[in-house]
Amino acid sequence: TKLRVGLLFGGRSGEHEVSISSARAIAKALSADTNASKYDILPFYIQKDGFWQAGEIAQQVLDSGAVYQSSVTSPNLWQFPPQTQEVDLWFPILHGPNGEDGTIQGLLSLMQVPFVGSGVLGSATGMDKIGMKIAFAQAGLPQVKYKAVTRAQIWSNPCVFPKLCDEIEAELGYPSFVKPANLGSSVGIAKVRSRQELEAALDNAASYDRRIIVEAGVVAREVECAVLGNDQPQASVIGEITYNSDFYDYETKYTQGLADLLIPAVLPEAIASQIQDMALKAFAAVDAAGLSRVDFFYVEATGEVLINEINTLPGFTATSMYPQLWAHSGISFPELVDKLIQLAIERDATAA
Ligand code: ATP
Ligand code: MG
Ligand code: MG
Ligand code: MG
Repeated sequence: TKLRVGLLFGGRSGEHEVSISSARAIAKALSADTNASKYDILPFYIQKDGFWQAGEIAQQVLDSGAVYQSSVTSPNLWQFPPQTQEVDLWFPILHGPNGEDGTIQGLLSLMQVPFVGSGVLGSATGMDKIGMKIAFAQAGLPQVKYKAVTRAQIWSNPCVFPKLCDEIEAELGYPSFVKPANLGSSVGIAKVRSRQELEAALDNAASYDRRIIVEAGVVAREVECAVLGNDQPQASVIGEITYNSDFYDYETKYTQGLADLLIPAVLPEAIASQIQDMALKAFAAVDAAGLSRVDFFYVEATGEVLINEINTLPGFTATSMYPQLWAHSGISFPELVDKLIQLAIERDATAA
């Protein structure tokens, strides 16, 4: 009998559309010859308002790729579709808040069914850039200088704010990067070069998140490494991203032709293996499981490698970096999806 895989996609984040594309690619892989005899797909689509659709509507979104929003005002969001009971294993492919951050992983843990990817701790630590950096520092991973800021420091007290900006300028200088701590796809991120830009960027970032991080800017090549596994994870070949924009912002990420992925990255062998080693350390540091994409800065002038971040549910479309890195490392897209399901079963068996 076939394993019924609950493919969970869409979601209440700015990366809703990317999630639909990722789910379509995964559904195709589950229907490939090598997988079709093992798995049945049960699609679950989370609308932008958080309402869960299963059955025909979810299948229609999966087939068409088009966002769906029911015209009825959402009934109780906690009434999950009855098909939820039929799932043998969950494959959540939700990016960003409410999907990559441990919230869904908590729900799936309570359902007592295995699921692909990291658990609550790994997801939450990987999503929050402040918590992530604390875990990385503890593991001895080099990274840029940064300062953690709260929304309250920015909005609530007009006396605190100028002093905060003075400290940021003194500690980090310009250019620096202002980021909401819990987002992805560069949403809410600004590169700032002056006091005026810093103040505006902090105010804007505070509209996305209670927690904000400011980082010293580096001039570096951007390279990424894919990790696959649980307790003995493997690192892929390294990929590089190149673009002509100011930084790898939302528009550059999602406008066709603005960025190029180069796999494998042309790097000295010692640097490539150092990056792989750091990727595995980062994976363990946040307690990730199944899969992650780890992003780095390679400062060519000094030979320094700095870790930027980990993404525990990276983009998974046919052209995304994560599956492409594995394709170049000898694992095809359908094989990758099959391995992730097997890893979910393995992890479930050893879970606390
Ligand atoms: P993802 O879509 O990979 O989850 P994200 O929203 O988590 O991205 P980051 O990876 O932290 O965001 O940053 C986005 C981009 O901003 C980087 O790829 C890089 O181009 C630029 N950037 C971020 N931080 C720095 C920094 N400290 N110095 C230089 N460039 C930076
Ligand atoms: Mg990220
Ligand atoms: Mg991300
Ligand atoms: Mg990134």
